[in-house]
Amino acid sequence: MDIQQILEEILAEVQPLLHQGQVASYIPQLAAVPADKLGMALRTVDGSVYAVGDAAERFSIQSISKIFTLTLAMQLAGDALWQRVGREPSGNPFNSLIQLEYENGKPRNPFINAGALVVTDVILSHLDDAKATVRNIVRVLCGKADVDFDLTVARSEQATGHRNKAMAYFLKSFSNLDNEPERVLDAYFHHCSLTMSCLELCEAVLFLANNGIAPLSGDMVMSSSQVKYINSLLLTCGTYDAVGDFAYRVGLPGKSGVGGGIVAVMPGHFSLCVWSPGLDASGNSLAGTKALELFTTRTGISVF
Ligand code: GLN
Repeated sequence: MDIQQILEEILAEVQPLLHQGQVASYIPQLAAVPADKLGMALRTVDGSVYAVGDAAERFSIQSISKIFTLTLAMQLAGDALWQRVGREPSGNPFNSLIQLEYENGKPRNPFINAGALVVTDVILSHLDDAKATVRNIVRVLCGKADVDFDLTVARSEQATGHRNKAMAYFLKSFSNLDNEPERVLDAYFHHCSLTMSCLELCEAVLFLANNGIAPLSGDMVMSSSQVKYINSLLLTCGTYDAVGDFAYRVGLPGKSGVGGGIVAVMPGHFSLCVWSPGLDASGNSLAGTKALELFTTRTGISVF
């Protein structure tokens, strides 16, 4: 199978969709990103790399960072984490407050904002410098020492992220944050502001396709059981209230972010990342989801 050619064909095929989505505007800094950016990369566990379009250009990874913070929190807190955050799809938008009220402040899963705030709180309770630790983990995983926060994006969200702020104070009112809400929010906004390319993201999540071992360093990031947990959560919760549609169309565990990136993994084989800033109504990249759907349909490769 000629993967490079398939990726090139997909890139051409989804071009007409680039302007159908809406670039996220609630974080003003993200609204400035051109909607016609499009990149795709794939890395196999045995070292092959394929890239097309803007695959080497860095973008704001936003909620894709929730994979890395969950990975760290699972290592720090173990099963105790699940007393404070659930493992079920929410069926609600990623930034919804409504469910938190009637479920007594326990977020449905770690991949919606409320869940990620609790995950960030757990990290902060264990580590003096959560921001630097998360950044360092990502740097080591992708092998790039210059991967960093985009401070203008972090400040932009800090200035306008009223809904996330409401959510953090709401969680605190249910005693589901140990640290001060502003401290949790500051770390969370920074984690979301990490900028990485499709190629770097593929490398960084490849341990999820490789039984927990990072192919680059040979380091064991987590056990194969923990990889099973994270990939299951990605499949059932990684793309918000569109997760059923994403699983149906793409058939791979995946995680999206409002910067327009989506990573997906095929356990035992490869990681795949696409970036196109225009989002659908659920906040997932519109052309990006289509590109992943075309890839798994055309190659016949998916977890099913
Ligand atoms: N920083 C964004 C927010 O909290 C992340 C959301 C996302 O990527 N879905 O709203």
